[in-house]
Amino acid sequence: MADKLAKKSARSKETNDVFRRIPISAIYREAAEEGILNWQEQWEKASKAEATKQYFPTVMDRIRTKHNLTSKLTAVLSGHGNTNAYLHRFNLREDAKCICNRGDQTMDHILFQCVETRKKKRHYKTPTKNTKEVACKQIRAYNKAQESV
Ligand SMILES: [Zn+2]
Repeated sequence: MADKLAKKSARSKETNDVFRRIPISAIYREAAEEGILNWQEQWEKASKAEATKQYFPTVMDRIRTKHNLTSKLTAVLSGHGNTNAYLHRFNLREDAKCICNRGDQTMDHILFQCVETRKKKRHYKTPTKNTKEVACKQIRAYNKAQESV
């Protein structure tokens, strides 16, 4: 029965007219929206990528951000750089501690807490306690501004 109806529908001029009225751009847009929704669902269910989720809480946050993703930026955003903490996790370093002896050398530590990094890079602004929060807010504000363009 279903086969018979499908054949009848395929031959019908009326059916063809209906499909011709849908712009191809609408089909692409709907497919893209569906893909983003699926991606968002996977993003929310994923138990990994905690560091990246701090910068990009939603998939749309990431899509709207026009960064040139280099390997170094990806390492920072994912927390998978060659830090002592990361290498120690894979038994490639004996110790996760930073050279400043003020905690494990994670990406967050290097960016926001490490006094040794701060000494080496004096031209950067001194990080405040909530620097990461501010950075995340700036990314979201940038994304919102891009949305209105
Ligand atoms: Zn340090």
